[in-house]
Amino acid sequence: MIYDLIVIGGGAAGFFGAIRSAERNPQIKILILEKSNEVLSKVRVSGGGRCNVTHACFDPSEMVTNFPRGNKELRGPFHRFLCGDMMDWLSAHRVETKIEEDGRVFPRSDTSESIIKCFVDLCRQYQIEIKTRCGVSSIEAKEGHWNLETSVETFVCRNVLVASGSSPAIWKLCKGLGHRIIDPVPSLFTFKIKDPLIDGLAGISVPYAEVVIKGQKFHETGPLLITHWGLSGPSILKLSAWAARALHEINYQFSIQVNWTGEDRETVFQEIQRLRQIHGKRTLLNHVLYKIPKRLWQRMIHILKLDTSIFADLKSAQMDALVKMICQCEFNVTGKSTFKDEFVTCGGIDTKEINFKSMESKLLPGLYFAGEILNIDAVTGGFNFQAAWTTAYLAADAITQSLDL
Ligand SMILES: Cc1cc2nc3c(=O)[nH]c(=O)nc-3n(C[C@H](O)[C@H](O)[C@H](O)COP(=O)(O)OP(=O)(O)OC[C@H]3O[C@@H](n4cnc5c(N)ncnc54)[C@H](O)[C@@H]3O)c2cc1C
Repeated sequence: MIYDLIVIGGGAAGFFGAIRSAERNPQIKILILEKSNEVLSKVRVSGGGRCNVTHACFDPSEMVTNFPRGNKELRGPFHRFLCGDMMDWLSAHRVETKIEEDGRVFPRSDTSESIIKCFVDLCRQYQIEIKTRCGVSSIEAKEGHWNLETSVETFVCRNVLVASGSSPAIWKLCKGLGHRIIDPVPSLFTFKIKDPLIDGLAGISVPYAEVVIKGQKFHETGPLLITHWGLSGPSILKLSAWAARALHEINYQFSIQVNWTGEDRETVFQEIQRLRQIHGKRTLLNHVLYKIPKRLWQRMIHILKLDTSIFADLKSAQMDALVKMICQCEFNVTGKSTFKDEFVTCGGIDTKEINFKSMESKLLPGLYFAGEILNIDAVTGGFNFQAAWTTAYLAADAITQSLDL
């Protein structure tokens, strides 16, 4: 049997690519090969089991600003299939979605099982074959076809969609076929920090902080969360994505400065001066500045040895130290942690070798790529899945078009 399309990888991009191909042409023979014993396993655990399926961003130019890698390449593809299109597609297949306050989109059911059921049902409907425990170990072009060797048997097809995520073995096979692989390194991780200021304060978050990596050009803003092992939250995850390669090069040993309020030094200084004048008798311990959580504020005051001080007593050096603690609080980061966090890989197939109109290899006709296997990744918020949907959609359109000829 010669398949029209074999998809390597039963993940988000693989399933969507297979289903979209079948929707375009229900006659074509499609097979999904999945190495593990379960398909769509990342979709299942994504978004804490709720699957943050995309983001409410409807402008391609704005969308690409969330991609540290792949932003130029994805501009065209997002013009063809963006978040609203995915939401419409899901709705047309009876998976209603909802937009949360921060723009993240989830199935209305609040469970990733809705997406999984939708995909699996559609595969059944279109008679897309799925073989699990069937990892591809070799990809070979032979006499106008592709031979895919697995532990079970060798499969033959006209087109291959490689959607194996961040699989080192498949990257190696692609390298063997002539593709350049950009060194994979982790993205979307939290910072390991041991510091008396945050020790024991796990769970406390500030709604808006500015975080700067010292000695580097990277800085981010957004909510910040204190964890058992250091700092996390959207501002840290975004920073880790933009600085993924730079931080890997310095072995995740670096310093950061946190501004807990987003206000500049001068404004905070003036505010403390104002309090000295109008509320001079108030104790610092009981007068929290801005929206700094009370326990964190009291820890700051304690570390600065101001527990019994009132605003009127503040000396100039003490004011400077307080302003520094609020606006330029320094921490040494000693490593990264991915515990319970969404993480993706930065690196993969060099995007220069891919035609972003069709997702076809520029080196090998009939070989297509979608999803995380590419050197494309985004910050958190549903953007990584949207990249998988969009690239798979484009690949499916090009594959079915080539089969129609
Ligand atoms: C815990 C966690 C939570 C996440 N949550 C979100 C979220 O809420 N929103 C979001 O946008 N992104 C999220 N992400 C990122 C998102 O899951 C990925 O960007 C997305 O799954 C990439 O899809 P993919 O199809 O390219 O790869 P994958 O989903 O990784 O699928 C690749 C598949 O290929 C298979 N495979 C590998 N090698 C072979 C082989 N040799 N032969 C056959 N099959 C093979 C793998 O077993 C796997 O099933 C999360 C990631 C993690 C780890």
